[in-house]
Amino acid sequence: MSISVSISHQIGKFALDADFSIEEPGITALFGPSGSGKTTIINIIAGLTRPRRGRVQLGDRVLFDHARSINLAIRKRRVGYVFQDARLFPHMSVHDNLYYGAKRNRLKLAASDQQDIIEMLGIHKLLHRQPNNLSGGEKQRVALGRALLANPDVLLLDEPLSALDQARKEEILPYFESLRDQRKLPILYVSHAIDEVARLADQMVVIDNGKTLANGSVFDMLGRTDLAPLAGQFDTGTVLPARVASRDPKAQVSFLDCAGQRIVVPYLGHAINTPVRLHIRARDVMIARTPPAGISANNVIPVTIIRMAGSNNDTLDISLAFGHDLDAIHTGPASDRPSIHARITSWSANRLNLGLHQKVFAVIKSVTVNGHLREQ
Ligand code: ADP
Ligand code: MG
Repeated sequence: MSISVSISHQIGKFALDADFSIEEPGITALFGPSGSGKTTIINIIAGLTRPRRGRVQLGDRVLFDHARSINLAIRKRRVGYVFQDARLFPHMSVHDNLYYGAKRNRLKLAASDQQDIIEMLGIHKLLHRQPNNLSGGEKQRVALGRALLANPDVLLLDEPLSALDQARKEEILPYFESLRDQRKLPILYVSHAIDEVARLADQMVVIDNGKTLANGSVFDMLGRTDLAPLAGQFDTGTVLPARVASRDPKAQVSFLDCAGQRIVVPYLGHAINTPVRLHIRARDVMIARTPPAGISANNVIPVTIIRMAGSNNDTLDISLAFGHDLDAIHTGPASDRPSIHARITSWSANRLNLGLHQKVFAVIKSVTVNGHLREQ
């Protein structure tokens, strides 16, 4: 199921011009600073806001087309929406909340599929409770269940974790991950938290001040240093697929294999060989000319400088390909050697006399990669 959005809208002085399409199931992050127009875009897809011009298409169904005067009613759009605050009906039990949308739906899910969703979300024990005595995390799981039971063609999640504390976030994130990994329906996930995006998203659409700036795979987009000054909290970094190679519960560390490179991270519960995703922020990577001795950082990786660019006067963004055996001439797009990004001050780059194709060492503290790992 693909989604294509090409709309313009005006709210007071705020002009929205969004243009993107999503071809794949899985999670697409709609990322941008507060006030950039993310909620407005998903309200337009859901039919809560009618744009001035443009078109919204879901699979082969046209939801909105200004030129052809098409504007499908909300309930006919087959769109599941989870708001930032769960917005459950306070006078209905959890059970009645869950089946509210499903009841009125002609394309009902089979009872066994409904049961699977309720079990997957771990809410079967809550069915007879009232929303006002649920925790924030439980409310969000019920809201997610309500959206899924209506059997939507797309799921819209508007900062579904932002009202929760870190412990509640950790409780919900695995449900989003399993939804993503089932790959049954496309999920548009609004967020302004880069670590959530790095953990969950497959694709990423970057929004700033009502405009879609860029659109692509999360692996490519998170490495884009040019987006950092534009999109507020955009924090350039690297997302790499890795695998749990071994682990030492006594020492409380796990060893990952990332394209042949061993990377030490704080202990993970995951079994050997579990595929995980590694997120390393560019500002957490140091560069050394020689392998440092007597240092607490656990990861000292031989790398070759393949790109240097000033992000502003004070800092440099440096791309580092794994390995010292790299033929620097052949490091164009054809090279599938993994690389990581480092952001350092121009002053230290000058002090170290860094230059293109130089063989150096990337120094990464183990703790900085914690919390951004997930099963692929
Ligand atoms: P985001 O979800 O990215 O934080 P929104 O889509 O909520 O952004 O808002 C985009 C812009 O539209 C903001 O500048 C906001 O002030 C404005 N806006 C949104 N809704 C309204 C409204 N009902 N009335 C006036 N301005 C609004
Ligand atoms: Mg919003």
